[in-house]
Amino acid sequence: MTVSSPWRATVLTLFPEMFPGPLGVSLAGRALGLGVWSLEARDIRDSATDRHRSVDDTPAGGGPGMVLRADVLAAAIDTAQITPDRPRLLMSPRGRTLTQSRIRELAAGPGPLIVCGRFEGVDQRVIEARALEEVSIGDYVLSGGEIAAMALIDACVRLLPGVMGSAESASEESFSDSLLEYPQYTRPQTFEGRQIPEILTSGDHAKVAAWRRAEAEALTRLRRPDLWAAHEKAPKSTTKE
Ligand code: SAM
Repeated sequence: MTVSSPWRATVLTLFPEMFPGPLGVSLAGRALGLGVWSLEARDIRDSATDRHRSVDDTPAGGGPGMVLRADVLAAAIDTAQITPDRPRLLMSPRGRTLTQSRIRELAAGPGPLIVCGRFEGVDQRVIEARALEEVSIGDYVLSGGEIAAMALIDACVRLLPGVMGSAESASEESFSDSLLEYPQYTRPQTFEGRQIPEILTSGDHAKVAAWRRAEAEALTRLRRPDLWAAHEKAPKSTTKE
């Protein structure tokens, strides 16, 4: 593994104790320990100025819940002293849904600042004033941005040079060519009466590649017509073959 220019994630959260959490084990955890990437979880509450250390207030115009204050969050962002080359993300169900191609871009850069919302979300003015890019991990609502941030970081870290065992893993897996991955099998040869498809144990690499390609295409066409349409439009590559 390389230890030069580590990729960085700076996370602004009301719950810094949640980090590294699951990012501290397995591939990401090992890479963190080796200095391939670094993680800084900063407490938004440290930027509160009143004696109760308040970070939220009631929504203007009424309604349920509380909203993270623009002044406190802006101060937390400013204190983090992020260089202009680093993306500033806000985890948000209103954001553009994360894709593997956006993850590739983020992994190729210096690493983002990630703001984790809580309550009903964040005052709109800080999103605009600090040019935060809203990023969603799917059309459902979590109680806070931390788990979403962890998903984003994990997806980036596994793409960093040297983190995954084989460089081929990333080019073969789901979304690499706007296709879902083909089905995988391993020993035992027979499981509850089900066999591994014969072609996979034939030793004929060309036939295995063709079978995998066909399975990936059939699965994508069936489950993800949106991806299939993108695949059909894209210039043809040979990465899955
Ligand atoms: N009231 C907000 C709405 O309806 O859009 C939901 C706020 S949610 C309870 C609190 C925080 O969780 C959000 O500010 C965001 O940081 C995070 N969050 C929730 N769902 C998310 C998702 N699908 N993707 C990314 N972040 C999410």
